[in-house]
Amino acid sequence: MAVKPQTSGQANAQLGADVPAVRCVGLAKRFGATVAVREASFEVGRGALMALLGPSGGGKTTLLRMIAGFETPDEGSIEIDGRTMVNGRTPVPPEQRRVGMVFQDYALFPHLTVRDNVAFGAPKGPDRDERVASVLGLVGLESVGERMPHQLSGGQQQRVALARALAPRPAVVLLDEPFSNLDAALRARVRDEVRQILRAADTAAVFVTHDQDEAFGLADQVGILLDNTVVQIGTPEDVYLHPASLDVARFLGEANVLDGVASGGSVVCELGTLKLGGDAVEGPVKVAVRPETLRLHPEDGPSVTAEVVGREFHGIYKLVTLRLPSGTTLSAVMGLHVPATVGESVQVGVNSFVSAFPA
Ligand code: ATP
Repeated sequence: MAVKPQTSGQANAQLGADVPAVRCVGLAKRFGATVAVREASFEVGRGALMALLGPSGGGKTTLLRMIAGFETPDEGSIEIDGRTMVNGRTPVPPEQRRVGMVFQDYALFPHLTVRDNVAFGAPKGPDRDERVASVLGLVGLESVGERMPHQLSGGQQQRVALARALAPRPAVVLLDEPFSNLDAALRARVRDEVRQILRAADTAAVFVTHDQDEAFGLADQVGILLDNTVVQIGTPEDVYLHPASLDVARFLGEANVLDGVASGGSVVCELGTLKLGGDAVEGPVKVAVRPETLRLHPEDGPSVTAEVVGREFHGIYKLVTLRLPSGTTLSAVMGLHVPATVGESVQVGVNSFVSAFPA
């Protein structure tokens, strides 16, 4: 069955304004009996940062490699900057695609200086030195141009890889799990730097990750890959608050799932009558309630009685497990000051809209 990814209105407005940096339509790739990617369609707007987020084995790297030209799709078409790269004909080779690639291990030339690594990516000609100096400036590494890669920190090495990818002024930079080689302390800082560099370069970028925080923290648009296809595209807020399916809701963090009956923009379930967000759905549904939308002892709004059956301390929040009269358990994220003792009876309500999907 063809799965058409949902695209937010905001994304459409952005993409419609111009020829997209990348347009993929109906991409499919098999390796023997393994389906790596099926019926994947998405666009990346000029200057936009898109994350392809999906579980391991979901086809993220294969998608990136098809855009780069390292794999040829079995079906579908790819356009970069309005030029057809592959569409049933002989594919355009990687070096003619105007893509810059940043590999997971950076793949710097160990025997070349930082400057020469970057020069390798820069177009030959009289302006080459100037271009190298300019991208080294962009990534903040002017002062280490004569060093060898092994004399740099992991974060610096990544900036060299990014500078090398940006040197030829690509239409799009592709980054494969760009932060997985960095330790947790460095990751947030480098992520910020990479975002600023890509913004300053005004180049579209696609990066693949299985880390939701990373995708949400860096990208303007997130493409969710489930079951080896792109099932939803939207801003981080869109895909989190308005998941296209129960599978997406479950993939993007924890969701408490209850049975319910929807009508007229509301749903009746064991937690009472709750307001629905997103598309209208009617009849029997599965309701997804985020743990952070549950409230204990709410001062207003409907609430039901539940028993506290578990409590886990997580530093800046605690996770409280509640049991409803039916036996259904719920996870609730609470501030540390909210009283919740195992064994006590509490009132629980929901302080936000919820998502529901046909049962
Ligand atoms: P991860 O996050 O683990 O890197 P991914 O989402 O990037 O996963 P891919 O690497 O694209 O997923 O792999 C998708 C599927 O295709 C997997 O089942 C994988 O084993 C298979 N696959 C990928 N490349 C090849 C190959 N060259 N030969 C055979 N099978 C492959």
